[in-house]
Amino acid sequence: MDMNISVEEQAFRHEVSAFARANLPKPVRNKVLFGEKLAKAEYVDWQQRLYRQGWIAPSWPVEYGGTGWSLGKRRVFHHALALCCAPETISFGISMIGPVLYTFGSDAQKAKYLAGILKSETWWCQGFSEPNAGSDLASLKTRARDRGDHYVVSGQKTWTTHGRHADMMFCLARTTEEAKLQNGISFLLLDMKAPGVEVRPIETIDEGASICEVFLNEVVVAKSELVGVEGRGWDYAKFLLGNERAMIARVGRSRMQLERARRVAASQRSGGRALSEDPLIQRRLCEIEARLRALEISELRALDGYRPGKGFDGATASMLKIEGSELCQQLTELLLDLTGRYSRVYMGRYEQSPIGGSDAHGAMGDHLFNRVATIYGGSTEVQKNVIAKSSL
Ligand SMILES: Cc1cc2nc3c(=O)[nH]c(=O)nc-3n(C[C@H](O)[C@H](O)[C@H](O)COP(=O)(O)OP(=O)(O)OC[C@H]3O[C@@H](n4cnc5c(N)ncnc54)[C@H](O)[C@@H]3O)c2cc1C
Repeated sequence: MDMNISVEEQAFRHEVSAFARANLPKPVRNKVLFGEKLAKAEYVDWQQRLYRQGWIAPSWPVEYGGTGWSLGKRRVFHHALALCCAPETISFGISMIGPVLYTFGSDAQKAKYLAGILKSETWWCQGFSEPNAGSDLASLKTRARDRGDHYVVSGQKTWTTHGRHADMMFCLARTTEEAKLQNGISFLLLDMKAPGVEVRPIETIDEGASICEVFLNEVVVAKSELVGVEGRGWDYAKFLLGNERAMIARVGRSRMQLERARRVAASQRSGGRALSEDPLIQRRLCEIEARLRALEISELRALDGYRPGKGFDGATASMLKIEGSELCQQLTELLLDLTGRYSRVYMGRYEQSPIGGSDAHGAMGDHLFNRVATIYGGSTEVQKNVIAKSSL
Protein backbone atom coordinates (compact mmCIF):
# COMPACT_ATOMS: atom_id res chain seq x y z
CA MET A 1 0.00 0.00 0.00
CA ASP A 2 1.39 3.39 -1.03
CA MET A 3 1.38 5.70 2.00
CA ASN A 4 2.99 8.60 0.14
CA ILE A 5 0.91 11.63 -0.68
CA SER A 6 0.74 12.57 -4.37
CA VAL A 7 1.17 16.13 -5.66
CA GLU A 8 -2.55 16.25 -6.36
CA GLU A 9 -3.34 15.11 -2.79
CA GLN A 10 -0.96 17.73 -1.37
CA ALA A 11 -2.83 20.44 -3.27
CA PHE A 12 -6.12 19.02 -1.97
CA ARG A 13 -4.76 19.07 1.58
CA HIS A 14 -4.06 22.81 1.21
CA GLU A 15 -7.57 23.33 -0.15
CA VAL A 16 -9.15 21.51 2.81
CA SER A 17 -7.00 23.38 5.36
CA ALA A 18 -7.87 26.72 3.74
CA PHE A 19 -11.57 25.80 3.85
CA ALA A 20 -11.30 24.93 7.57
CA ARG A 21 -9.44 28.16 8.37
CA ALA A 22 -12.09 30.21 6.58
CA ASN A 23 -15.14 28.36 7.98
CA LEU A 24 -14.28 27.21 11.47
CA PRO A 25 -15.24 29.73 14.21
CA LYS A 26 -12.35 30.20 16.67
CA PRO A 27 -14.36 29.22 19.80
CA VAL A 28 -15.32 25.93 18.10
CA ARG A 29 -11.72 25.27 17.05
CA ASN A 30 -10.56 25.87 20.63
CA LYS A 31 -13.22 23.62 22.13
CA VAL A 32 -12.15 20.79 19.81
CA LEU A 33 -8.47 21.37 20.58
CA PHE A 34 -9.11 21.23 24.32
CA GLY A 35 -11.46 18.26 24.16
CA GLU A 36 -14.59 20.13 25.26
CA LYS A 37 -18.09 19.12 24.23
CA LEU A 38 -19.71 21.25 21.52
CA ALA A 39 -23.29 22.48 21.57
CA LYS A 40 -25.65 20.94 19.03
CA ALA A 41 -25.88 24.28 17.17
CA GLU A 42 -22.09 24.32 16.75
CA TYR A 43 -22.10 20.85 15.20
CA VAL A 44 -25.00 21.72 12.94
CA ASP A 45 -23.34 24.94 11.75
CA TRP A 46 -20.07 23.15 10.91
CA GLN A 47 -21.74 20.16 9.26
CA GLN A 48 -23.94 22.41 7.13
CA ARG A 49 -20.84 24.23 5.90
CA LEU A 50 -19.39 20.86 4.89
CA TYR A 51 -22.69 19.98 3.22
CA ARG A 52 -22.76 23.19 1.17
CA GLN A 53 -19.19 22.42 0.07
CA GLY A 54 -20.30 18.90 -0.99
CA TRP A 55 -17.97 17.27 1.56
CA ILE A 56 -20.32 16.00 4.28
CA ALA A 57 -20.34 12.28 3.37
CA PRO A 58 -17.13 11.25 1.58
CA SER A 59 -17.72 7.54 2.19
CA TRP A 60 -21.29 7.45 0.77
CA PRO A 61 -21.90 6.29 -2.82
CA VAL A 62 -22.02 9.21 -5.24
CA GLU A 63 -25.67 8.59 -6.14
CA TYR A 64 -26.67 9.24 -2.51
CA GLY A 65 -24.49 12.33 -1.99
CA GLY A 66 -20.95 10.93 -1.58
CA THR A 67 -17.86 12.48 -3.19
CA GLY A 68 -16.40 9.56 -5.16
CA TRP A 69 -12.93 10.35 -3.80
CA SER A 70 -10.12 7.79 -3.78
CA LEU A 71 -9.06 6.28 -0.47
CA GLY A 72 -5.95 8.48 -0.46
CA LYS A 73 -8.01 11.61 -0.92
CA ARG A 74 -10.40 10.64 1.87
CA ARG A 75 -7.46 10.04 4.18
CA VAL A 76 -5.96 13.44 3.33
CA PHE A 77 -9.35 15.10 3.87
CA HIS A 78 -9.97 13.62 7.32
CA HIS A 79 -6.44 14.27 8.53
CA ALA A 80 -6.33 17.85 7.26
CA LEU A 81 -9.61 18.64 9.03
CA ALA A 82 -8.46 16.95 12.24
CA LEU A 83 -5.18 18.90 12.29
CA CYS A 84 -7.18 22.14 11.86
CA CYS A 85 -9.17 21.09 14.98
CA ALA A 86 -12.44 20.73 13.06
CA PRO A 87 -15.23 18.84 14.90
CA GLU A 88 -15.65 15.18 14.01
CA THR A 89 -18.92 14.71 12.16
CA ILE A 90 -21.61 13.36 14.50
CA SER A 91 -21.57 9.70 13.62
CA PHE A 92 -25.15 8.57 14.28
CA GLY A 93 -26.48 10.02 11.02
CA ILE A 94 -23.67 10.02 8.46
CA SER A 95 -21.67 6.96 9.60
CA MET A 96 -24.33 4.75 11.18
CA ILE A 97 -27.95 5.01 10.04
CA GLY A 98 -27.22 6.59 6.63
CA PRO A 99 -25.31 3.55 5.28
CA VAL A 100 -27.95 1.18 6.76
CA LEU A 101 -30.73 3.09 4.97
CA TYR A 102 -29.10 3.32 1.55
CA THR A 103 -28.08 -0.36 1.79
CA PHE A 104 -31.15 -2.03 3.33
CA GLY A 105 -33.86 0.67 3.52
CA SER A 106 -36.92 1.01 1.29
CA ASP A 107 -37.08 3.66 -1.45
CA ALA A 108 -39.57 5.56 0.69
CA GLN A 109 -37.17 5.54 3.67
CA LYS A 110 -34.29 6.74 1.49
CA ALA A 111 -36.45 9.56 0.13
CA LYS A 112 -37.69 10.48 3.59
CA TYR A 113 -34.44 10.43 5.56
CA LEU A 114 -31.19 10.62 3.56
CA ALA A 115 -31.41 14.33 2.65
CA GLY A 116 -32.16 15.29 6.27
CA ILE A 117 -29.06 13.36 7.42
CA LEU A 118 -26.81 15.04 4.83
CA LYS A 119 -28.15 18.50 5.71
CA SER A 120 -27.95 17.83 9.49
CA GLU A 121 -31.65 18.66 9.75
CA THR A 122 -32.53 15.35 11.39
CA TRP A 123 -30.52 14.33 14.44
CA TRP A 124 -30.37 10.59 15.20
CA CYS A 125 -29.59 8.52 18.28
CA GLN A 126 -28.87 4.82 18.71
CA GLY A 127 -31.31 2.74 20.77
CA PHE A 128 -29.51 -0.58 21.07
CA SER A 129 -28.28 -0.98 24.70
CA GLU A 130 -30.63 -1.72 27.58
CA PRO A 131 -30.04 -2.01 31.34
CA ASN A 132 -29.48 -5.78 31.01
CA ALA A 133 -28.38 -5.93 27.40
CA GLY A 134 -25.05 -4.26 26.63
CA SER A 135 -22.32 -6.75 25.74
CA ASP A 136 -25.04 -9.39 25.53
CA LEU A 137 -27.12 -7.24 23.19
CA ALA A 138 -29.18 -10.13 21.82
CA SER A 139 -30.90 -10.51 25.20
CA LEU A 140 -32.66 -7.14 24.74
CA LYS A 141 -36.22 -6.98 26.07
CA THR A 142 -37.79 -4.01 24.28
CA ARG A 143 -40.85 -5.42 22.58
CA ALA A 144 -42.57 -4.31 19.35
CA ARG A 145 -46.08 -5.79 19.19
CA ASP A 146 -47.70 -6.17 15.79
CA ARG A 147 -50.97 -4.22 15.48
CA GLY A 148 -51.64 -4.56 11.76
CA ASP A 149 -50.26 -1.48 10.05
CA HIS A 150 -48.11 -0.46 13.04
CA TYR A 151 -46.11 -1.74 16.01
CA VAL A 152 -46.54 -0.73 19.65
CA VAL A 153 -43.09 -0.49 21.23
CA SER A 154 -42.39 -0.74 24.97
CA GLY A 155 -39.12 -1.08 26.87
CA GLN A 156 -36.11 0.84 28.13
CA LYS A 157 -32.94 1.91 26.35
CA THR A 158 -29.90 3.26 28.14
CA TRP A 159 -26.57 5.02 27.48
CA THR A 160 -28.31 6.72 24.55
CA THR A 161 -25.85 9.34 23.35
CA HIS A 162 -27.54 12.63 22.28
CA GLY A 163 -30.91 11.18 23.34
CA ARG A 164 -31.98 14.65 24.50
CA HIS A 165 -31.19 16.28 21.17
CA ALA A 166 -32.27 13.57 18.77
CA ASP A 167 -35.30 13.83 16.48
CA MET A 168 -35.19 10.13 15.59
CA MET A 169 -33.89 6.91 17.10
CA PHE A 170 -32.81 3.78 15.23
CA CYS A 171 -33.91 1.12 17.60
CA LEU A 172 -33.67 -2.65 18.06
CA ALA A 173 -36.84 -4.31 19.35
CA ARG A 174 -38.04 -7.89 19.62
CA THR A 175 -40.93 -8.70 17.30
CA THR A 176 -41.08 -12.46 17.99
CA GLU A 177 -39.69 -14.85 20.62
CA GLU A 178 -37.24 -17.29 19.05
CA ALA A 179 -35.00 -20.03 20.50
CA LYS A 180 -31.97 -18.27 19.06
CA LEU A 181 -32.04 -14.79 20.65
CA GLN A 182 -30.54 -13.05 17.60
CA ASN A 183 -33.58 -14.04 15.56
CA GLY A 184 -36.83 -12.15 16.04
CA ILE A 185 -35.12 -8.75 16.54
CA SER A 186 -36.27 -5.97 14.20
CA PHE A 187 -34.70 -2.65 13.26
CA LEU A 188 -37.14 0.27 13.64
CA LEU A 189 -37.01 4.03 13.04
CA LEU A 190 -38.72 5.76 15.93
CA ASP A 191 -39.80 9.39 16.29
CA MET A 192 -38.37 10.80 19.56
CA LYS A 193 -41.28 13.28 19.78
CA ALA A 194 -43.90 10.50 19.62
CA PRO A 195 -46.23 10.08 22.63
CA GLY A 196 -44.75 7.58 25.12
CA VAL A 197 -41.06 8.53 24.65
CA GLU A 198 -39.44 9.81 27.85
CA VAL A 199 -35.79 10.90 27.97
CA ARG A 200 -33.78 11.27 31.20
CA PRO A 201 -30.18 12.59 31.04
CA ILE A 202 -27.37 10.75 32.85
CA GLU A 203 -24.62 12.89 34.37
CA THR A 204 -21.13 11.60 33.59
CA ILE A 205 -17.81 11.83 35.45
CA ASP A 206 -16.65 14.74 33.26
CA GLU A 207 -19.63 16.82 34.46
CA GLY A 208 -21.35 16.38 31.09
CA ALA A 209 -24.78 14.90 30.34
CA SER A 210 -24.57 13.82 26.72
CA ILE A 211 -25.98 10.35 27.42
CA CYS A 212 -29.50 9.44 28.47
CA GLU A 213 -31.95 6.77 29.51
CA VAL A 214 -34.90 6.49 27.12
CA PHE A 215 -38.18 4.97 28.27
CA LEU A 216 -40.55 3.70 25.58
CA ASN A 217 -44.12 3.36 26.80
CA GLU A 218 -46.45 2.00 24.11
CA VAL A 219 -44.91 4.08 21.33
CA VAL A 220 -46.67 3.69 17.98
CA VAL A 221 -44.29 3.02 15.07
CA ALA A 222 -45.77 2.64 11.56
CA LYS A 223 -44.79 -0.54 9.67
CA SER A 224 -43.26 1.74 7.00
CA GLU A 225 -40.55 2.53 9.61
CA LEU A 226 -39.33 -1.08 9.74
CA VAL A 227 -35.94 -1.35 8.01
CA GLY A 228 -35.53 -4.38 5.74
CA VAL A 229 -37.20 -7.62 6.75
CA GLU A 230 -38.98 -8.16 10.09
CA GLY A 231 -36.85 -10.33 12.41
CA ARG A 232 -33.60 -9.65 10.50
CA GLY A 233 -32.59 -6.58 12.51
CA TRP A 234 -29.56 -8.35 13.95
CA ASP A 235 -27.93 -8.48 10.48
CA TYR A 236 -28.41 -4.73 9.94
CA ALA A 237 -27.20 -4.01 13.49
CA LYS A 238 -23.98 -5.98 12.85
CA PHE A 239 -23.40 -4.02 9.63
CA LEU A 240 -23.93 -0.77 11.55
CA LEU A 241 -21.69 -1.82 14.46
CA GLY A 242 -18.86 -2.63 12.02
CA ASN A 243 -19.01 0.97 10.75
CA GLU A 244 -19.27 2.32 14.31
CA ARG A 245 -16.29 0.35 15.59
CA ALA A 246 -14.05 1.17 12.64
CA MET A 247 -14.90 4.85 13.08
CA ILE A 248 -13.93 4.77 16.77
CA ALA A 249 -10.31 4.27 15.61
CA ARG A 250 -10.26 8.12 15.36
CA VAL A 251 -6.85 8.30 13.69
CA GLY A 252 -7.25 11.99 12.78
CA ARG A 253 -8.16 13.03 16.31
CA SER A 254 -5.24 11.06 17.79
CA ARG A 255 -2.89 12.70 15.28
CA MET A 256 -4.13 16.12 16.46
CA GLN A 257 -3.68 15.11 20.12
CA LEU A 258 -0.15 13.88 19.45
CA GLU A 259 0.77 17.23 17.85
CA ARG A 260 -0.72 18.96 20.89
CA ALA A 261 1.30 16.73 23.25
CA ARG A 262 4.48 17.58 21.32
CA ARG A 263 3.76 21.32 21.61
CA VAL A 264 3.05 21.03 25.35
CA ALA A 265 6.20 18.95 25.92
CA ALA A 266 8.27 21.61 24.16
CA SER A 267 6.76 24.46 26.19
CA GLN A 268 6.58 22.93 29.71
CA ARG A 269 9.82 22.92 31.72
CA SER A 270 10.98 20.73 34.58
CA GLY A 271 14.43 20.61 36.24
CA GLY A 272 15.71 23.43 34.02
CA ARG A 273 14.87 21.84 30.67
CA ALA A 274 11.91 21.33 28.36
CA LEU A 275 9.92 18.14 28.96
CA SER A 276 10.53 17.25 25.31
CA GLU A 277 14.20 16.69 26.24
CA ASP A 278 13.30 14.15 28.93
CA PRO A 279 14.14 10.64 27.63
CA LEU A 280 11.04 9.12 29.27
CA ILE A 281 8.74 11.64 27.61
CA GLN A 282 10.56 11.18 24.30
CA ARG A 283 10.02 7.44 24.60
CA ARG A 284 6.29 7.82 25.26
CA LEU A 285 5.89 10.19 22.31
CA CYS A 286 7.78 7.79 20.01
CA GLU A 287 5.75 4.78 21.16
CA ILE A 288 2.50 6.60 20.45
CA GLU A 289 3.77 7.75 17.05
CA ALA A 290 4.67 4.14 16.12
CA ARG A 291 1.28 2.80 17.28
CA LEU A 292 -0.55 5.59 15.47
CA ARG A 293 1.25 4.93 12.19
CA ALA A 294 0.49 1.22 12.46
CA LEU A 295 -3.16 2.02 13.17
CA GLU A 296 -3.31 4.37 10.20
CA ILE A 297 -2.02 1.66 7.87
CA SER A 298 -4.45 -0.88 9.35
CA GLU A 299 -7.32 1.55 8.88
CA LEU A 300 -6.39 2.11 5.23
CA ARG A 301 -6.21 -1.65 4.64
CA ALA A 302 -9.62 -2.04 6.26
CA LEU A 303 -11.12 0.72 4.10
CA ASP A 304 -9.53 -0.86 1.03
CA GLY A 305 -11.27 -4.15 1.89
CA TYR A 306 -14.64 -2.50 2.59
CA ARG A 307 -17.33 -3.87 0.29
CA PRO A 308 -20.58 -1.89 -0.15
CA GLY A 309 -23.52 -3.92 1.11
CA LYS A 310 -21.28 -6.15 3.25
CA GLY A 311 -19.44 -3.59 5.35
CA PHE A 312 -16.33 -4.25 7.39
CA ASP A 313 -15.21 -7.70 8.34
CA GLY A 314 -16.21 -7.94 12.05
CA ALA A 315 -12.77 -8.88 13.39
CA THR A 316 -11.09 -6.05 11.47
CA ALA A 317 -13.51 -3.46 12.86
CA SER A 318 -12.98 -4.85 16.38
CA MET A 319 -9.20 -4.67 15.99
CA LEU A 320 -9.38 -1.02 14.87
CA LYS A 321 -11.70 -0.22 17.76
CA ILE A 322 -9.43 -1.78 20.41
CA GLU A 323 -6.26 -0.16 19.15
CA GLY A 324 -7.79 3.26 18.42
CA SER A 325 -9.56 3.54 21.79
CA GLU A 326 -6.47 2.46 23.75
CA LEU A 327 -4.35 4.97 21.86
CA CYS A 328 -6.87 7.69 22.57
CA GLN A 329 -6.60 6.92 26.31
CA GLN A 330 -2.79 6.76 26.18
CA LEU A 331 -2.77 10.26 24.68
CA THR A 332 -5.08 11.83 27.26
CA GLU A 333 -2.94 10.24 30.03
CA LEU A 334 0.20 11.71 28.48
CA LEU A 335 -1.42 15.17 28.25
CA LEU A 336 -2.37 14.98 31.93
CA ASP A 337 1.20 14.08 32.87
CA LEU A 338 2.62 16.87 30.71
CA THR A 339 0.34 19.54 32.17
CA GLY A 340 0.86 18.21 35.70
CA ARG A 341 -1.00 19.66 38.65
CA TYR A 342 -2.71 22.39 36.60
CA SER A 343 -4.95 19.92 34.83
CA ARG A 344 -5.74 18.17 38.11
CA VAL A 345 -7.10 21.14 40.05
CA TYR A 346 -9.93 22.01 37.68
CA MET A 347 -11.92 20.51 34.85
CA GLY A 348 -11.03 23.51 32.72
CA ARG A 349 -13.66 24.95 30.43
CA TYR A 350 -12.14 27.10 27.74
CA GLU A 351 -14.13 30.17 28.79
CA GLN A 352 -12.72 30.00 32.34
CA SER A 353 -9.48 31.75 33.29
CA PRO A 354 -6.66 29.27 33.50
CA ILE A 355 -4.88 28.63 36.80
CA GLY A 356 -1.71 27.55 35.04
CA GLY A 357 -0.95 27.70 31.33
CA SER A 358 -3.80 27.41 28.83
CA ASP A 359 -2.39 23.99 27.86
CA ALA A 360 -4.21 22.48 30.84
CA HIS A 361 -7.63 23.50 29.52
CA GLY A 362 -9.98 20.56 29.19
CA ALA A 363 -7.26 17.96 29.73
CA MET A 364 -8.92 16.42 32.80
CA GLY A 365 -12.46 16.40 31.38
CA ASP A 366 -11.23 14.87 28.12
CA HIS A 367 -9.22 12.26 30.01
CA LEU A 368 -12.11 11.28 32.28
CA PHE A 369 -14.67 11.06 29.48
CA ASN A 370 -12.35 8.99 27.33
CA ARG A 371 -12.36 6.23 29.96
CA VAL A 372 -15.49 5.16 28.08
CA ALA A 373 -13.70 4.76 24.74
CA THR A 374 -12.87 1.16 25.64
CA ILE A 375 -16.52 0.51 26.59
CA TYR A 376 -18.88 2.21 24.11
CA GLY A 377 -19.41 0.58 20.75
CA GLY A 378 -18.64 -2.73 22.53
CA SER A 379 -16.05 -3.21 25.30
CA THR A 380 -12.44 -4.24 24.64
CA GLU A 381 -12.98 -7.65 26.25
CA VAL A 382 -15.94 -8.35 24.00
CA GLN A 383 -14.04 -7.15 20.89
CA LYS A 384 -11.27 -9.61 21.78
CA ASN A 385 -13.89 -12.37 21.92
CA VAL A 386 -15.11 -11.32 18.44
CA ILE A 387 -11.56 -11.51 17.06
CA ALA A 388 -10.90 -14.85 18.76
CA LYS A 389 -14.12 -16.40 17.43
CA SER A 390 -13.50 -15.24 13.89
CA SER A 391 -9.76 -15.82 13.64
CA LEU A 392 -8.72 -18.66 15.97
C1 LIG B 1 -20.50 6.99 27.13
C2 LIG B 1 -21.27 5.85 26.53
C3 LIG B 1 -22.04 6.09 25.43
C4 LIG B 1 -22.81 5.06 24.88
N1 LIG B 1 -23.65 5.34 23.84
C5 LIG B 1 -24.52 4.39 23.42
C6 LIG B 1 -25.53 4.72 22.46
O1 LIG B 1 -25.62 5.85 21.96
N2 LIG B 1 -26.41 3.77 22.11
C7 LIG B 1 -26.35 2.49 22.62
O2 LIG B 1 -27.17 1.67 22.24
N3 LIG B 1 -25.42 2.15 23.54
C8 LIG B 1 -24.51 3.07 23.96
N4 LIG B 1 -23.57 2.75 24.91
C9 LIG B 1 -23.60 1.43 25.51
C10 LIG B 1 -22.39 0.56 25.24
O3 LIG B 1 -22.44 0.00 23.95
C11 LIG B 1 -22.32 -0.49 26.35
O4 LIG B 1 -22.00 0.19 27.54
C12 LIG B 1 -21.31 -1.57 26.10
O5 LIG B 1 -21.68 -2.37 25.03
C13 LIG B 1 -21.08 -2.45 27.34
O6 LIG B 1 -22.30 -2.91 27.83
P1 LIG B 1 -22.69 -2.72 29.39
O7 LIG B 1 -22.43 -1.29 29.75
O8 LIG B 1 -24.04 -3.26 29.58
O9 LIG B 1 -21.62 -3.58 30.19
P2 LIG B 1 -21.69 -5.14 30.48
O10 LIG B 1 -22.11 -5.85 29.24
O11 LIG B 1 -22.50 -5.38 31.70
O12 LIG B 1 -20.18 -5.48 30.77
C14 LIG B 1 -19.57 -5.25 32.06
C15 LIG B 1 -18.13 -5.74 31.98
O13 LIG B 1 -18.10 -7.15 31.72
C16 LIG B 1 -17.28 -7.42 30.57
N5 LIG B 1 -17.88 -8.51 29.81
C17 LIG B 1 -19.19 -8.65 29.46
N6 LIG B 1 -19.37 -9.77 28.74
C18 LIG B 1 -18.15 -10.35 28.61
C19 LIG B 1 -17.68 -11.54 27.97
N7 LIG B 1 -18.51 -12.34 27.29
N8 LIG B 1 -16.35 -11.81 28.03
C20 LIG B 1 -15.50 -10.99 28.70
N9 LIG B 1 -15.89 -9.88 29.35
C21 LIG B 1 -17.19 -9.54 29.30
C22 LIG B 1 -17.28 -6.15 29.78
O14 LIG B 1 -16.10 -6.03 28.98
C23 LIG B 1 -17.30 -5.08 30.86
O15 LIG B 1 -16.00 -4.85 31.34
C24 LIG B 1 -22.76 3.75 25.44
C25 LIG B 1 -21.95 3.52 26.56
C26 LIG B 1 -21.22 4.54 27.11
C27 LIG B 1 -20.40 4.24 28.34
